[in-house]
Amino acid sequence: MPSKPHSKTPKVGTSELYRPIRIVPLHPGKAKAAAPQVPPKLTYRNGPLLTSVQVFTIFWGATWNDAPQNALLPKINEFFDFILSSQLLDQLAEYSVPNQAISHGVLIGTITLTTPPPGKTVDDSAIQNLIQQEISAGTLPASTPNTLYFLFLPPGVTVTQGGSASCQVFCGYHDAINNSIFYAVMPYPSCAGCLGGVADFDALTSTSSHELCEAITDPIPGQGWYDDNNGEIGDICAWQTRTLGGYTIQLEWSNKVNQCV
Ligand SMILES: [Zn+2]
Repeated sequence: MPSKPHSKTPKVGTSELYRPIRIVPLHPGKAKAAAPQVPPKLTYRNGPLLTSVQVFTIFWGATWNDAPQNALLPKINEFFDFILSSQLLDQLAEYSVPNQAISHGVLIGTITLTTPPPGKTVDDSAIQNLIQQEISAGTLPASTPNTLYFLFLPPGVTVTQGGSASCQVFCGYHDAINNSIFYAVMPYPSCAGCLGGVADFDALTSTSSHELCEAITDPIPGQGWYDDNNGEIGDICAWQTRTLGGYTIQLEWSNKVNQCV
């Protein structure tokens, strides 16, 4: 891969803006992912957590009404229905802090936005604008401290964020608009690096579980549970997967047992 996002380190003493890791990196392919050079340990930075996450899924583009994506769409929503009250959320409880106990979440709704994405490439700034506009218009529910908008892009659309592109450097990310509107972006996994050798749906549930757990434990990247050397809870275990309820999900770092679980 052209750049290793996880090797970025803050440049102390320079004016260069350091942004904490918030992406799913590409699958390492046949090479095994390098073991972390510094032993992982998430520490809490006093920011908000999504204690009972309310997910709203957004499928952008009319092609979500066409085969084969139209078969995938309800399956993705069923995945959220299941996963938000599953053992995966239970295991995040170890990251509860005083007055912020992490518990189950719920899928509160879904929408297919038939307005087309502006082009073959969509920048994160356009996604932030879209979410804000659709909230203002009432198309999306108003954001609360627990709302997480999960935006899925159609096949053939590349997302750029922080100067890098989906399928070149990342397979998904989460972020916060004005530190208060939480969202995740899932480009369609149309490349080997974001499929990781599995079917479209399994790649989407794996990367979605990665971003979901990160958005819960670190909704404002770097201000929740974070590791300056290794990133967020899912980054440490990127592309290590297991099956839960028949779904492919990613392992997540546990401080408690000192491994990916
Ligand atoms: Zn990540």
